[in-house]
Amino acid sequence: MAEKSQELMEKIVALCKRRGFVFLSSEIYGGFSAVYDYGSYGVELANNIKDAWWKYMVQMREDIVGLDAAIFMHPKVWEASGHVSGFADPLAECRNCHVRVRVDHLLEEIGIAADEKMSETEINALFNQNREKIGCPKCGKKDFTEAQKFNLLVKSNLGNFTDEWMDEPVYLRGETCQGIYVNYKNVLDSSRVRIPFGIAQIGKVFRNEITARQFIFRTREFEQMEMQYFTHPAQEMEAYEKLKEYRFQFYLDLGMKAENLRWHKHENLVFYAKEAYDLEYNFPFGFKELEGVHARGDYDLTQHAKFSGVALDYLDQATGEKYVPHIVESSVGVGRMLLAFLTEAYTEEALENGPSQNPSDTVAGRETRVVLKLPKKLAPVKVAIFPLMKNKPELVMKAKEIFDTLKPHFVCEFDDNGNVGKRYRRQDEIGTPYCVTVDFDSLGLGEDKSLEGTVTVRDRDTMQQERMPIERLKEFFTEKF
Ligand code: ATP
Repeated sequence: MAEKSQELMEKIVALCKRRGFVFLSSEIYGGFSAVYDYGSYGVELANNIKDAWWKYMVQMREDIVGLDAAIFMHPKVWEASGHVSGFADPLAECRNCHVRVRVDHLLEEIGIAADEKMSETEINALFNQNREKIGCPKCGKKDFTEAQKFNLLVKSNLGNFTDEWMDEPVYLRGETCQGIYVNYKNVLDSSRVRIPFGIAQIGKVFRNEITARQFIFRTREFEQMEMQYFTHPAQEMEAYEKLKEYRFQFYLDLGMKAENLRWHKHENLVFYAKEAYDLEYNFPFGFKELEGVHARGDYDLTQHAKFSGVALDYLDQATGEKYVPHIVESSVGVGRMLLAFLTEAYTEEALENGPSQNPSDTVAGRETRVVLKLPKKLAPVKVAIFPLMKNKPELVMKAKEIFDTLKPHFVCEFDDNGNVGKRYRRQDEIGTPYCVTVDFDSLGLGEDKSLEGTVTVRDRDTMQQERMPIERLKEFFTEKF
């Protein structure tokens, strides 16, 4: 299982680079650890993921509104939230090869319930009891330093022109939800929403992560999609259960298999939390957190009211009751979700057309194709349009004409490189649901004159081709998407 998973992960990483989904940041300089860039298909896929999330979380909900808060915030925000003192992971260093590790993760890997919220003393007690079982992931030696808590906030000198800026840093936000909490009152005063209601936001986040493995699963710069739902204290847990269900359904609606998703309950809750679950996905390296759904009580608003001096309680106009709303949240990273969808979609299929010339390219000795069976809604390119041959201007012209007609409505790609078989392979690998080919029949130059004005439309998943009048294409794809 481990070996196969490692192999699958390597294949996904290679596909991402080969087809332009994800690149290592600053690659020509040797790369920049734990930071990634999204290429042309990666950015389309990420945008489609964000659109699907926004539609589901905002557009389809009367009780949720959007927000886009800035990355930089008043430094007091991070004191109030507890990040300055408590947003820290336990770090240890291998004395032999100097690789840095997260001790809570190493403990979890050998089945011991640990997490980053434990104090240094608690985590070291567990670590010391189990040192014999824990080898360095790089060199295998069992010689680590003590665990020390390392703060994850990234500091900057924004607006500070002195050399002492490190003493009063401005932080790059470590989570998007703080922008929601500090705008809660603005939203309430300026819009129609009343409790219970939610505020949703998508935006960049920065964390000084200690371990930077597993590709885009854990990066130091990433985007979060978060929704904070404000409730009456007595309704918090009911809203929480509903949110858990709603979030699970999001993945099912996008075709994820239920057996690849599971809930994991947090054993060690932060003191203010009522309940916290991670929704885990079966990544190539095993079930790991995809998103968090948490019941946070009134901690966030109470803290911000205390530190800012601004009352953040809610007055129910109908009953006259005044209270600090309780919050339930859902939070997920765009890159992590993208990796989950790539894992779900990555498929190798044996083809019917005989043995392969390339032994590494076979399933049971037959030629294979790699196909990303992404949900149509998420596919980076919806329709690829080909002229059968590149050197026949009349085919190219017709194909371009079709491309121009369809491109205002769907993300299309015109491709005349290599032969049609190669083009299908390429489109399969990026998950394009349909390919349209213009051939001599389309122009009335083939044997069967009745095919004039028609093209072949090939389906990614079934590989079936059907002949279709050019005028019907727009309507056909509108029905499909
Ligand atoms: P982990 O335990 O994996 O470090 P976390 O519990 O710190 O994650 P949260 O702070 O709850 O994560 O963040 C919410 C979501 O943001 C996560 O479920 C994940 O989808 C995403 N996320 C968190 N950290 C990262 C990261 N370094 N890179 C990419 N996505 C991340």
